[in-house]
Amino acid sequence: MATVKRCNIPKSQVEHELDQAIKSADPVRAESFQKLHRVRAIKTKNQERERLRLTEKLGDNHPRVVALQAKIATNYEVARNLKMESVRAQTEAPRVESSSWLVHGRVINNLLEPVPGMKTGLYDRSGCPIETCGSEITDKTGYFNLTIKKVADDARDTSATNKKMEGFLYVLGKDNVTVHRDKRPLAILAGQAQYLEVVLDDGDIDRPQQPKTRYLGNSNSRELHDLKNQNPACQIDEIKVDHRINFKTRKEALALDYNYCAYCFGKDKSKR
Ligand SMILES: [Zn+2]
Repeated sequence: MATVKRCNIPKSQVEHELDQAIKSADPVRAESFQKLHRVRAIKTKNQERERLRLTEKLGDNHPRVVALQAKIATNYEVARNLKMESVRAQTEAPRVESSSWLVHGRVINNLLEPVPGMKTGLYDRSGCPIETCGSEITDKTGYFNLTIKKVADDARDTSATNKKMEGFLYVLGKDNVTVHRDKRPLAILAGQAQYLEVVLDDGDIDRPQQPKTRYLGNSNSRELHDLKNQNPACQIDEIKVDHRINFKTRKEALALDYNYCAYCFGKDKSKR
């Protein structure tokens, strides 16, 4: 029995990944994100007006003003994340040939704005460029798409030697100066496409600044976590920066088809 179960895991993983690829271009989701983003923007505007009024009346350092300021900052972060998620939802999953592999994604700055005109490419673990994928310049949305046309033979070879083929993204700026070397390994497997977001920062993409909201969604697993009730099994630290979506209410997340995490919300609520 156990063997049967074990055999099922890879298949469901494959299905999950396919599901994710299909989900990545979803006009309905894109629209709901845009709607949420607009609502959030209006809210922030109103709060900003209220802050000005209170500041005049009570002064900069009054606890009420300080609290409102923090609220506005959080709202602003959430709005930015929602905007980004809407861009993701509009990104079409590119077709990938069975013998090819590709990585596509976006280069953004720490304000989550696209960075156009950057040269992207891959290098291997030893730091040598992987020539077969060439290089591509990010477009005005920061988008890039790198393809390795023929992976199949290499993949077969490497499975024999039990070595994984992997690559890392690098980003070059003006005069071909390296501005970013991504630390996340990309498994190069025939027939697969991967989406990657690179945040150009002070070189520290591992400890991103996160807005503080009670609920955190993983846009990859589509699980929602309650940070007030966090459990080590939630593995919050493992959630990649480009998969972290902050929500102020559970309703927002549920409207976007997120599911409750069984560890922090309890097994009754979770559908998994
Ligand atoms: Zn959780």
